[in-house]
Amino acid sequence: MASEPSSTAVPKPGNFLRGIIERDLEAGSWAGRHFGGSPGDAAHHAAGGPDPARIRTRFPPEPNGYLHIGHAKSICLNFGLAQDYGGVCHLRFDDTNPEQEEQEYVDAIVEAVHWLGFDWNAHGTSHLYYASHYFDFMYRAAEALVQAGLAYVDEQTPEQMHATRGDFHTPGTASPFRSRTPAENLARLREMRDGRLADGAAVLRARIDMASPNINLRDPTLYRIKRATHHNTGDRWCIYPMYTYAHPIEDALENITHSICTLEFEDQRPFYDWLLESLADLGLLARPLPRQYEFGRLNLSYVITSKRRLRELVTEGHVQGWDDPRMPTIFGLRRRGYTPASIRALADGSGASKTNIWLDYSVLDGCLRTDLEGHAPRAMAVLDPVRLELTNWAEVYGSPAHVEPCHAPVHPQRPELGQRRFGLSHEVWIERDDFAEAPAKGFFRLFPGNKVRLKYGLVVECTGCEKDAAGTVTRVLARVVPDTRSGTPGADAVKVKGTITWVGVHDAVAATVNLYDRLFTAAQPEAGGRDWRTVLNPDSLRVATAWVEPALAGAEREQRFQFERHGYFVADREAHAPERPVFNRITTLRDGWAA
Ligand code: ATP
Ligand code: MG
Repeated sequence: MASEPSSTAVPKPGNFLRGIIERDLEAGSWAGRHFGGSPGDAAHHAAGGPDPARIRTRFPPEPNGYLHIGHAKSICLNFGLAQDYGGVCHLRFDDTNPEQEEQEYVDAIVEAVHWLGFDWNAHGTSHLYYASHYFDFMYRAAEALVQAGLAYVDEQTPEQMHATRGDFHTPGTASPFRSRTPAENLARLREMRDGRLADGAAVLRARIDMASPNINLRDPTLYRIKRATHHNTGDRWCIYPMYTYAHPIEDALENITHSICTLEFEDQRPFYDWLLESLADLGLLARPLPRQYEFGRLNLSYVITSKRRLRELVTEGHVQGWDDPRMPTIFGLRRRGYTPASIRALADGSGASKTNIWLDYSVLDGCLRTDLEGHAPRAMAVLDPVRLELTNWAEVYGSPAHVEPCHAPVHPQRPELGQRRFGLSHEVWIERDDFAEAPAKGFFRLFPGNKVRLKYGLVVECTGCEKDAAGTVTRVLARVVPDTRSGTPGADAVKVKGTITWVGVHDAVAATVNLYDRLFTAAQPEAGGRDWRTVLNPDSLRVATAWVEPALAGAEREQRFQFERHGYFVADREAHAPERPVFNRITTLRDGWAA
């Protein structure tokens, strides 16, 4: 299918925003700015010293849900650009909409941004802000616009307003309220503010141009009446600013230089500039004013990046919560085991462009492997166990209880990390599919008559198996070949084609292993208007009861490992405990989905 993403390589990071910032810095566009030490109006900043930040960016989430990989992209972009160019990035909660916003989300966002490795403290100041702290200024600005004849109270019904707005082919027509005097409008605005009008009875609109080819300039709404309790300001306000009015003001009050947003705001840019220019002309905002730049959203295949959809996945019970390891939320990715470095690599590697991009999920897995390959401790685990009995053990070693000590490097290229130790005895757990009673061509592991090496242990020769009434293999039988232990002079005496992983029955530790796969079976679950519920992957979670090598009992929560032959795993940050280990598979060693 042509629309399905096919690239598995991280694309070259073109980033047009860097070009803009570099040109600005060279031209000194932002050099003369003052900063009042905190957000504020023109007078506040004028009273402060030169802004110590060469540029200011911001990450402005609405605290109405958990952040996802798309937000991570925006976080890495905004904080990363500030870092790279001697700037500061603000964390701003865009909490102007009184509904839905909750402290739980605020806390989770703070934690997520920190976890990704970013911080908003700079020059001795915490640049964590709430848009709702600017309500007083926003209202003052509204009165100033009214007094300047640049805004009016419209009391048409919503239907009338919609009908008079026109469309792409037809200019809008003026509201009968558009010609009220500034004094009438000011009085009416104050009545709105004071709760004298019902919800929806009136709105404040900018007076710009009802015939503008850009519909966003046809007298957009600035304030609406809404009796709602706000999580920060309680019941103090019954009018709330619209996002398109609030956002430019927030940027300007915070001295933002580069206001980076996603493409759907492109058509809003003329209004962004109109509003800030108007308020600067009225002496309320400091110049130079922030500038808005739009970049393409990041989408990841086989998941969905929309807070609304993610909420549906949770509330309909398709996943176990916001931090379910299959979720593309930052908390889900964290619980799954992805590292902050792997997410930053994905974000940085995808650059910034003027089109929305779809990255294949395998790119994230590739970033994870690159990060972990060099330092994740190795371990052996048997995920689908069957018992292998070494029938001549007592004969060779004098006792069935004899244990041959074995060791293996914690990391093959990092000798300084030391050795892991475990024992080989007469019974070991092996993977069920490492044995075949009737082997297919090219199968080099255990089958009657064939010899393999138990990794870091001895060579064994398969003699057969035992089965239950249903024909299922219950036990594989083999004879140990003496004097072939790895690391001893006899190790190379017997040549084998296969090496298998194993753990000793006597010292293995039982573990729950969550084997995750993609949440959806289609790369773009909602392509062509499809209901994503129809392409949920029924096998996105398989829970295995595994045997793992004894050292893993000491794993700490969130510690990551490479289980040899199986992939990268993490000790679950909620459920793991030394007496009952729980590991999540982050990803396999190779991309199992590649064509
Ligand atoms: P959603 O549609 O999932 O609710 P949103 O854009 O409404 O996302 P906000 O809380 O408003 O969520 O977003 C905070 C910031 O993150 C915004 O600047 C937004 O542009 C950016 N952002 C959100 N999703 C993506 C994405 N997929 N790629 C890049 N940036 C994103
Ligand atoms: Mg939003």
